[in-house]
Amino acid sequence: EPDPTLRPAPLPEDADRALRPQTLADFIGQAEARANLSVFIESARRRAEAMDHVLFHGPPGLGKTTLAQIMARELGVNFRMTSGPVLARAGDLAAILTNLEARDVLFIDEIHRLNPAVEEVLYPALEDFELDLVIGEGPAARTVRIELQPFTLVGATTRMGLLTTPLRDRFGIPTRLNFYTTEELTRIVERGARLSGISSDPEGVAEIAARARGTPRIAGRLLRRVIDFALVEGDGRLTRAIADTALTRLGVDHLGLDGADRRYLRLMAENYGGGPVGVETLSAALSESRDSIEEVIEPYLLQQGLIARTPRGRMLAQKGWTHLGLPVPPVAGQ
Ligand code: ADP
Repeated sequence: EPDPTLRPAPLPEDADRALRPQTLADFIGQAEARANLSVFIESARRRAEAMDHVLFHGPPGLGKTTLAQIMARELGVNFRMTSGPVLARAGDLAAILTNLEARDVLFIDEIHRLNPAVEEVLYPALEDFELDLVIGEGPAARTVRIELQPFTLVGATTRMGLLTTPLRDRFGIPTRLNFYTTEELTRIVERGARLSGISSDPEGVAEIAARARGTPRIAGRLLRRVIDFALVEGDGRLTRAIADTALTRLGVDHLGLDGADRRYLRLMAENYGGGPVGVETLSAALSESRDSIEEVIEPYLLQQGLIARTPRGRMLAQKGWTHLGLPVPPVAGQ
């Protein structure tokens, strides 16, 4: 029998689901988005109509999926979930749409990666709740119009700029999600620690929040790792010392940057004199996809003022040089 004290429930990555806020009131941060959504949800409920289509955009891990699930729950309807790359053929989307019940929420993650043929099917579905399906091939082919139940599409994207204009225009409620403040992340980590049943010091919680890259998903992941260290190498309590030890061993620095972030900054400093450098060059030199550089790495570095975007490429900002412990060259950081 394993020692039960080493396995307090619920610790595995499943805890992710347990930590997901279930209601708008439980959802911390994104005050503006939350306030607006609560009005639109309440209005749709009173009218007993499908809520207008919503587009969430912003970096990964900020709560797009979570908010979509909350919307469905608060609207009292079913939640269906798929993603752009999964919908290979028009028929895949048609099958999902024809199975929706009135006012359901359909969530499409990574909606900027929809195949154009699938996107075509989506337009009349969004606008008129109709599907035009082509049945058969060649001269025998004919179009059949199918009526759909009114539904709400919730699209999520990390790359608003990659959405086609006609698709973007069909969302009545475009909503941008921003990085969280340390204070908001502190409340999220506090809640996570409480739900995980670990006893914690405020300083320990604050340490995780400050190093979570402005992102609840990262805060949750760091919390789980710190709990591991607290149980195995500490006395089971989440303290500042144990948080600092764990995060440092995980390669998370005081600003919350990880190894990939620092590699990016160091490359700019050491190989390109602080830039400007084009994203393709960075992608080749770092062996990271252009997408992951633009969607995952850069938004936080930009938000923190460590780098800047110029028409000629990325530049290391003054704060970037300082963070690397390097002297700021005279021309940098303007
Ligand atoms: P996205 O869809 O934007 O990538 P998710 O909705 O999947 O992000 O959220 C990532 C993780 O962060 C989930 O485990 C979720 O529970 C947690 N999370 C996101 N937003 C919040 C929040 N405001 N409060 C607490 N936890 C959150």
